Amino acid sequence: MQIEENVSLKSLNTLHLNSVSKYYIVLKSRQEIPDVIDYVKKNKLNFFVLGGGSNIILPEFYDGLTIKNEIKGVSKLKEDDSFYYIKVGAGEIWDDFVGYSVINKYYGLENLSLIPGSVGASVIQNIGAYGSEVKDCVDCVEIYDTKNNTYEIFSFKDCKFRYRNSIFKDELNRYVVISITFKLLKKENLNLSYKDIKKVITDPKLCNSMELRNCVINIRKNKLPDFNIIGNVGSFFHNPIIDKSFLDELLLKYPNIPFFKDSEDKFKVSAGWLIENIGLKGYRKNNVGTYDKQALVLVNYADATKTEILDFANYIIDKVKTVYNIRLNIEPIII
Ligand code: NAP
Repeated sequence: MQIEENVSLKSLNTLHLNSVSKYYIVLKSRQEIPDVIDYVKKNKLNFFVLGGGSNIILPEFYDGLTIKNEIKGVSKLKEDDSFYYIKVGAGEIWDDFVGYSVINKYYGLENLSLIPGSVGASVIQNIGAYGSEVKDCVDCVEIYDTKNNTYEIFSFKDCKFRYRNSIFKDELNRYVVISITFKLLKKENLNLSYKDIKKVITDPKLCNSMELRNCVINIRKNKLPDFNIIGNVGSFFHNPIIDKSFLDELLLKYPNIPFFKDSEDKFKVSAGWLIENIGLKGYRKNNVGTYDKQALVLVNYADATKTEILDFANYIIDKVKTVYNIRLNIEPIII
């Protein structure tokens, strides 16, 4: 077991926050996990698992052990009439796997192209984009339970997937994701429902999986900041889910508010629109701002700290609450 000390995590988080971890270890295989967790428990250390660092807000100093999950591997386990079952290590890069699936004609992940981060992280927040969520393609998840010191296989149901949420987020840091088995369609079934996609793909019959992936990549590149250039963690707030009666009230005042049916009596409203409509798109305070092409994305223009990011986020939350009486929730995980 090779534990390093005082390691900078700046290049390992897409917000580019200056952060130093007191202890740091890279995990390359499932077999290493019990010893690492045993060490953590014996030494009463805090710990957290770091994937691609694309949905996390790090402190300037982390007084514990950062476990970098680099468990790799992609293999086809089996197939039936409708699906291929592909097992993927949690440390694989998400978009590399999406590209691989499209090339191999394993269908279902096209709309989730170019989302930054690792395969393991995809199930933690049930990543979603353009009408698809990763849960739609998950068969099961292999984990290590750090509470009971056991390896387990979580079925789809065990994962308790919800909108940008799962059991892995409910009980953060209890489970180390080892691998995910995806259930990918043999037959192409493209989801072209979102307006940005419809604008580009006007004739669905002429579109295939690779074209849809390229379309999503282009839309994202045009609308979202490249974290290699400007630090960000993608969408910073969840889209709020509200009751029909409250939506009706809002519509009287704001008839243009975009809304989408969520469940029987619940509707999702666009958090980006709420922020933009009060003039805070492209708004900047010192090192932090909302992105000028997408108000839902907070960006680190220079050397922002966790405190600056959260102060700015709270400023946005307060403004939105005052104007609409809606409380926005922060999407990334705060360490
Ligand atoms: P958009 O198309 O401008 O739409 C604004 C919001 O309305 C989206 O957040 C989306 O909710 C919702 N929406 C739009 N069309 C919808 C439909 N036909 N049915 C149901 N809901 C609909 O959104 P955008 O900001 O450019 O983002 C496009 C997609 O990429 C969204 O799905 C967004 O979630 C995703 N994205 C995710 C991240 C991330 O970090 N998680 C970052 C950037 C973009 P949903 O968010 O529920 O889809």
